[in-house]
Amino acid sequence: AFVTRLGPSPTGFMHIGNLYTGLINERLAHQSGGRFFLRIEDTDHKRYVEGAEDVITDALAYFGIHYDEGVFKTEEKGAYGPYHQSDRAGIYHVMAKHLVAQGYAYPSFATEEDLATLRTQQEAEKADTGYYGKWAKDRTLSLEEIKAKLDAGSPWTLRLRSRALPGDGYRVSDGIRGHVTVHPNKQDVVLLKTNGIPTYHFAHVVDDHFMRTTHVIRGEEWLATLPIHLELFEILGWQAPLYCHTAHLMKIDDGTRRKLSKRKDPEMALSYYMEKGYHPTSVREYLMILINSDYEEWRLAHPEAPLEDFQVTLDKMASSGALYDMVKLDDVAKESLLHISEEDLADFLIHWAQDYAPEAAPLLQAHREELVRLLAIGRDGKKPRKDLVYAEQMLAHVSYFFDEWFQVKDDLPDNIPPAEARTILEAYLETYDPADDNSAWFGKVRDIATDLGYAARPKDYKKDPDSYKGHVGDVSAVIRLAVTGQMASPDLWSVQQIMGPDKVKSRIQAYLT
Ligand code: GLU
Repeated sequence: AFVTRLGPSPTGFMHIGNLYTGLINERLAHQSGGRFFLRIEDTDHKRYVEGAEDVITDALAYFGIHYDEGVFKTEEKGAYGPYHQSDRAGIYHVMAKHLVAQGYAYPSFATEEDLATLRTQQEAEKADTGYYGKWAKDRTLSLEEIKAKLDAGSPWTLRLRSRALPGDGYRVSDGIRGHVTVHPNKQDVVLLKTNGIPTYHFAHVVDDHFMRTTHVIRGEEWLATLPIHLELFEILGWQAPLYCHTAHLMKIDDGTRRKLSKRKDPEMALSYYMEKGYHPTSVREYLMILINSDYEEWRLAHPEAPLEDFQVTLDKMASSGALYDMVKLDDVAKESLLHISEEDLADFLIHWAQDYAPEAAPLLQAHREELVRLLAIGRDGKKPRKDLVYAEQMLAHVSYFFDEWFQVKDDLPDNIPPAEARTILEAYLETYDPADDNSAWFGKVRDIATDLGYAARPKDYKKDPDSYKGHVGDVSAVIRLAVTGQMASPDLWSVQQIMGPDKVKSRIQAYLT
């Protein structure tokens, strides 16, 4: 069984890559009967943002990424905590002392200024920059020298005494990429900062050991520092988990592929999907397609199965730039909505509105039954509705129903003057009977049209366009406008059945006055 984790930093921003790796981690753990946990990597105090943790837990909750242990909204759960790195200082310090005692780490007193001087020298000598080899002066300090500096209160960091393996590269295995060649690390990287807080390198190694992580699945930006992490596992005497580096999500821009960018691509932020109200299934479904190349084929063969029935495999995962495409996402969303019942869609909409359209929520809640029926119009269960992808659109789509939001948005058709509209609506009020079925109802509309001289367009109407008044569609358009306030609406008979006769009549009367 896999034990996996997601280790986001509370920056106030969750992006689609977090969700992509989150879903992989969640699936691999749960499909194998394992555990998935959420650890908050909050060692970087400079980056601390108020409320940022809620951004993480809210996004995971929204998209239905369930974890078994770790940081939940108001508490921590699980036997391997604490799950905030900021609460684990004692653990890191024990391991740090152990490394010092073994000679694998040493205190360095180099100040920011010293490091800047070093960089200038290295640049002058065309050497690689950084703290390593002969440049790493503190490597050779004696215990007495160290003690003297500590007694004098000099600030220090703890650095790894790197093995600085010779050679250009060596092979390590990656769960997604197979064998990859990495450059041996020669840098004495910082393990503890001057404030005693660990760096990512050190903290995650210690945590993933004690939290019994079997697979570290993270973004490909960490591949370059993998040698440091493997070295840390080795000197700590622990078996390393299998590291798996996911591919960057890419976008085609002006014909070239580039990484999704926080600055240029609003769709990179998870808040984008939450605010618009994408159904979590839609987004998960699309990510699955990016995660495993055989997912789409499986989906075609199992249109109704929950995505959890699919077995995610590491070896079918993209190892280079997966193309992230909003058009495709929307298509997948439309398709996946087909398999969600109107009841569930209505509940989703109400729930979404509570957070993102609070003024609408009570109204939707109070009219849940009608909402279900409104959402059902035109859904024959076979063809996706191309206009309804996310909650914001669904809300706009049903808003005409509620008197609180109703407004006449469109104009009459060009060929119908207001007086004519009045005649049509008066005739309609006289014959309208909510007991009529769809065809009886339409028969009456057609009769009104015929009585008032509307007919199919004659072939030669261009010779004398003024002689042609219009056709039955213009008559129903007038009724539609009065009842729904707009020229485009779902099937008018169905809408009126849901509204009930009082509302239909009062809308028409209001239009007439
Ligand atoms: N805190 C790291 C990040 O946000 C986590 C990387 C990892 O999963 O190990 O990128």
